[in-house]
Amino acid sequence: MKSYKIAAIPGDGIGGEVVAAGLEVLEALAARDGDFTLDTSHFDWGSERYGRTGRLMPEGGAEELRAFDAIFFGAVGAPDVPDHLTLWGLRLAICQPLDQFANVRPTRVLPGIESPLRRVSGPELDWVIVRENSEGEYAGQGGRSHQGLPIEVATEVSIFTRAGVERIMRYAFELARSRPRKLLTVVTKSNAQRYGMVLWDEVAAEVAKDFPDVTWDKMLVDAMTVRMTLKPGSLDTIVATNLHADILSDLAAALAGSIGIAPTANINPDRDIPSMFEPIHGSAFDITGKGIANPIATFWTASMMLEHLGEDRAAAALMNAVEQVTADTSLHTPDLGGEATTRKVTDAMLAAISGRN
Ligand code: ATP
Ligand code: MG
Repeated sequence: MKSYKIAAIPGDGIGGEVVAAGLEVLEALAARDGDFTLDTSHFDWGSERYGRTGRLMPEGGAEELRAFDAIFFGAVGAPDVPDHLTLWGLRLAICQPLDQFANVRPTRVLPGIESPLRRVSGPELDWVIVRENSEGEYAGQGGRSHQGLPIEVATEVSIFTRAGVERIMRYAFELARSRPRKLLTVVTKSNAQRYGMVLWDEVAAEVAKDFPDVTWDKMLVDAMTVRMTLKPGSLDTIVATNLHADILSDLAAALAGSIGIAPTANINPDRDIPSMFEPIHGSAFDITGKGIANPIATFWTASMMLEHLGEDRAAAALMNAVEQVTADTSLHTPDLGGEATTRKVTDAMLAAISGRN
């Protein structure tokens, strides 16, 4: 039987609550089928640790993670620590050295969940957003000078490399090809941003030649928000830069019903390097400790992790359980307009997995 080494990093806020729920469900699946076991190590990395030691994770932490098969991550961010410190001190401090360059974000309207778009029902909104996860606007290049003076200057430089753009574009075309509609939309802002975004357009056209079976088009990011809202059914796979896809995927999650249902995989396609799986939402301190965090995003995330590990049967069983649970509106948490608790949703998942409902 296979055994997978999982690094669990719950992080901050509701991260701990949803990761605990996710691990319970994963353990139940492993126990039910006996196909694999999970050997989970827990890491206390996050803002509390920052308060104690001045670092969110130990030096060389990302190197320590290389020994694992996958990383199961919660969220990072706390009210008393500036957001740029927490993001760069943990999430990006893992993604960048492990070169998890493709951030994959599926979104669809699950059974029982209503989109805020009244005209949209399930199959009309079924997207995967591929977010470039290693460079672009979040390359960390720039600086500040003359601080505090009227002449103060701050620069935030976007970096786009041909190699970086090409690998994300290939990843997106491959993913689009693997989906039934074989449809890809490349998002840029190449009318206003004349260098990096034009490179995106050029590389897209070049890579497209290798994928004659994929239908693709280009959209400017502003027009894209309109299309997502008014013509959701015209989209399938979407590829965009680090910043653009960050924003579009929050919109996508909200249009599919809640940010509390949307998962993410930070992928390095090299199987010897662990990929990282997390819900797209943050630490949500406004609801932390109340027991009402929606764990569905984390369950879906867990399913993506199983699929990445090659456990397709368990991944599908987990998604089936998710759909059974969301179909029952009495199991909706407050973000979906219901009154269910994290515990209640998790118990329903465990029951669905063991076939007790
Ligand atoms: P980050 O900067 O890490 O993306 P954020 O500041 O954007 O975090 P989130 O923590 O994602 O914010 O929360 C945004 C809103 O969505 C909050 O009102 C929060 O309570 C709600 N929310 C986020 N995740 C969940 C969840 N799993 N269940 C219920 N509500 C959630
Ligand atoms: Mg956010």
